Amino acid sequence: MDSFMKDDRIEFRLNSWMENAAICGLVNILGEEHVKINPQSVEVPTEALRNFEESYFGYFAEQYQKLSSLTKVLAYEDEMLRQQQEQFAHFDEKAYQRLQKYLTDLKRYGESNSYLAVYPLIDSPTDIVSLIKQVKIDKLKKGEMTQDKAQVIERVKKCYDLLAEIFAYYHQEEVQRYLAAKIQIYSVINNGYNDVSFLNRQESKGDFFEKYHNYFVESMFSYLEEDHQKDKLSCTNCGQPIKKGEISYSFINQAGYDANRKQSNAWGFTNDLFMCPVCRLLYTCIPAGFTYVYNQGIFVNDNHSVRTLLDVNTNIRLNVLSVNKAEVKADDTYAALIRTLQDSMNQQHRRELQDTQVVRYENERYYFNLLPKHILKTIEQSKDKLAKLFNVGFILNGEYQSVYKETITRLMNNTNLFSLIYQIIRTQATGGQVYMKTDHIIKLIAINQNFLKELIQMKELKDEELQRIRRDGFFLKKEYANKNKADSIGLRLLNALKIGDKNGFLDLLLNSYMYLNKQVPKYFTSATFNDEEGFKTIGYSFVAGMIGDYAKIEGGNDNE
Ligand SMILES: [Zn+2]
Repeated sequence: MDSFMKDDRIEFRLNSWMENAAICGLVNILGEEHVKINPQSVEVPTEALRNFEESYFGYFAEQYQKLSSLTKVLAYEDEMLRQQQEQFAHFDEKAYQRLQKYLTDLKRYGESNSYLAVYPLIDSPTDIVSLIKQVKIDKLKKGEMTQDKAQVIERVKKCYDLLAEIFAYYHQEEVQRYLAAKIQIYSVINNGYNDVSFLNRQESKGDFFEKYHNYFVESMFSYLEEDHQKDKLSCTNCGQPIKKGEISYSFINQAGYDANRKQSNAWGFTNDLFMCPVCRLLYTCIPAGFTYVYNQGIFVNDNHSVRTLLDVNTNIRLNVLSVNKAEVKADDTYAALIRTLQDSMNQQHRRELQDTQVVRYENERYYFNLLPKHILKTIEQSKDKLAKLFNVGFILNGEYQSVYKETITRLMNNTNLFSLIYQIIRTQATGGQVYMKTDHIIKLIAINQNFLKELIQMKELKDEELQRIRRDGFFLKKEYANKNKADSIGLRLLNALKIGDKNGFLDLLLNSYMYLNKQVPKYFTSATFNDEEGFKTIGYSFVAGMIGDYAKIEGGNDNE
């Protein structure tokens, strides 16, 4: 049995990804200065956990401030002060519309369930609900702003008076403390666990600081003070004795993944797995170990040491949630992952590149990827090209597909990019919505080559060669007087590529060149074209050019 509780401190040891994420979260919440970081464990003074709920909720409120609706609720204040300072000199129709739009947001958030649950906890003479009801502004009549500006400004001033009271309310310390945290309960914290204490549906009202304290913190201290010499059971995580099997893993989202692994240490005949209250508190820190953007989370289980775990994941978090950024997007978690992996590869002179486990949380479940060395290498070699794909995408079955995300996901799953390349060209060829240039497709093909050459022997085509093939495709299409005919050949070539029918592809191509009385480019008879990957690489570059738009054709220099 691991004895991990020393007199005045508790030691938490690295274990599977779930404990590791929780340990990172625990350190994030308490701050590194309050814990002792060992290579394979962290030690926390027991007293640092006495009022853990304050640092706990404070951490989420602060880290996710940028994504918080409270930030949006207070967003208009700066403009209001500026307009007042300028005595409405520049207040125009646009400013009026901004105010109207803001008021819609204010109502949407201010009257939402999370907010309504917090108001009763605030000791304030302000009746915020009725203030929000009162604050509204009539629609601007046509020409009113130019003909009757004074009257319009009077209206705005009345509105501002109410807003001033509303902002004062939201700035109160108590409101900030409760509301900022409450918002994160349902956007971040519940990604880690659910249905207990303040997350229980029946418990959604009331003081969640208190609820967390009583449920997780108090019970842990009572447990630590009790005598456990006669206990018959033991915690399936840390091995400490427990009296009764009270605390199961069921409150942790998707814990089934991990529970099976623990079966082997389970006590006695029962299949039920139980933990001690110390581990329960630890597991509530899982969401603080992940970085989430809109229910999409990421954790890199680089378990070389506690230090590497903290460094990699802090990097990702800072990258994603940096307050200096104008906007946070869901794809940012991927971009941050890639940037962080690149950084750590650059710093890894001393340490060999090693396989790294990435845990993603999406659509309420966990996805696991082991990033083997060759994928890390592909990412490293493709970093400039990957960066160019960040804002491009296309619509597939009515849904927007981010090419960046799709590329990273495929690479993480150790899958080549041919099917993605096919989907994009196919969408373009059939008149669908594609928000990218042919040049981006060529970049994808080049990234795919970086991936393939790590796995198989293949002759790599340089960027200039890919561009030339693409140009040849473009000019072949141009030769056709009948555009529809060219399009239909393009689609048939694409289909041959998809099913890997090299002979069919070549037949079609030779026919076309013969029909136009042109010479077939040499690469179609080269050794490279003979390999399946070479055939697809050349073929997709050619068809991308054929189907690509005329205006976007560029010179031979790929300026990478
Ligand atoms: Zn335990």
